[in-house]
Amino acid sequence: MSGPGESNNEDDDVYARGLMRHGAPRRGFPRRGTDPRVAYQLVQDELMLDGVSRMNLATFCTTWVEPEVRKLMDQSIDKNMIDKDEYPQTAELERRCVRMLADLWNAPDPASARGTSTTGSSEAAMLCGLAAKFAWRGRRTAAGESTDRPNLVCGPVQVCWEKFARYFDVEIRQVPLSGDKLLMTPDDVGRYCDENTIMVVCNFGQTFTGLFEDVRGISDALDRFQERTGLDVRLHVDGASGAFVAPFVNPDLVWDFRLPRVRSLNASGHKGGLAPLGAGWALWREASDLPEELVFDVDYLGGNEATFNLNFSRPGGQVVAQYYDFVRLGHEGYAHVHRAKYETARHIAAGVAGMGPFEVISGGDPDLGITAVAWRMAGDESFTPYDLADRLRTRGWLVPAYPLPRDRDDEIVQRVLVRHGFSRDMADLFLEDMVDCVGHLRRHTPSPSLTQAEAGGFNHGAGSRSRVPGEPGR
Ligand SMILES: *Cc1c(COP(=O)(O)O)cnc(C)c1O
Repeated sequence: MSGPGESNNEDDDVYARGLMRHGAPRRGFPRRGTDPRVAYQLVQDELMLDGVSRMNLATFCTTWVEPEVRKLMDQSIDKNMIDKDEYPQTAELERRCVRMLADLWNAPDPASARGTSTTGSSEAAMLCGLAAKFAWRGRRTAAGESTDRPNLVCGPVQVCWEKFARYFDVEIRQVPLSGDKLLMTPDDVGRYCDENTIMVVCNFGQTFTGLFEDVRGISDALDRFQERTGLDVRLHVDGASGAFVAPFVNPDLVWDFRLPRVRSLNASGHKGGLAPLGAGWALWREASDLPEELVFDVDYLGGNEATFNLNFSRPGGQVVAQYYDFVRLGHEGYAHVHRAKYETARHIAAGVAGMGPFEVISGGDPDLGITAVAWRMAGDESFTPYDLADRLRTRGWLVPAYPLPRDRDDEIVQRVLVRHGFSRDMADLFLEDMVDCVGHLRRHTPSPSLTQAEAGGFNHGAGSRSRVPGEPGR
């Protein structure tokens, strides 16, 4: 759309041309295209406004990968996970990953465990939840009992379980928190389970604090519940972030298929698994734990393949990259990566505790949780965690402040996730900035009108943009 005297010559400087002078298409579908150099520069420039992902200390997800992973992702851009006949080797890598994970998580017979890659733990949670619901319904129907009121018992969970419950019509019974209790405990479960409980979901790496629930204790409690009531309630472990950490760093912690009651497990390959975004895993202890009604045979891509995913087409690069990670790092390599993260987390926890105004509630103990450091205000200060989050953002750090789950939501906590690619040096830079920010906030008491809603509440991903009072939304 060049006007008189305007150049649209391909040799001309990118910024002297078409869209660069007239602005980006925003509303209507653009009538004409533009050449790739201009389009690329335009899109790339817009993306500068995103934060620097590696300074986003809110996310659990992978933000650093080796160059080889980028190459494999690029080479896999055309691989469709569903098309196992056209891309049999990508399908084979997925099968290998499933067997390796069944081995890592101590399935009784890794060769016969069922599992699949997914787009993340959320899809895996839907699949595992559905498997439990179908299995429960099958049992109840066979016994001539009603199947209209399924429920799921859990502590404070990631939103994917609330989604599962709502999307698939299951009552969610979340054990309330009280006092200093931040997790579901073995004492709780018996009181919330009944004949309509499709499963209990244990958090292995809780979203709010990074803490592990006591899976073994909860499993034992369900054994006692069964002795009392005759009801055999299956246990599912949401190991989104913990399942790829504990086996390497804390192998004696028993939370996985070593417990016979654990029938299924989900994990995010793109968290502790170190794969790029879009990698998740769902595994069942034995083939019989995945009801046959959930498995479809697809034959119109050539060949005949079983599929039990929510999606049909799905990118294959994440699975390829996950397999690369397993081969590249092995058990020892994962242990080294995660141990370094724990060291850094403990360093940050000590630094935050030493600043004065904060009390650390979880931080870098592999017996207790993942590499999250969470803290709350220790006493009266003239600023809130929301003010600190806002101030840290001026240096580019994204550190969420949010209320604890229901029943404890009067308490505001703040949390950083130490991830692969976050070095001791970066931790030191972060701590120095935090000291500066605290000093600033003490000298310049923030306006009390910066409420939680304005500051942006808990957001597990990129965090929402905060708004400075009196300024229009940025
Ligand atoms: C991240 C997370 C999820 C959701 O996983 P995605 O891979 O982001 O879909 C579920 N549960 C827990 C405990 C998590 O940490």
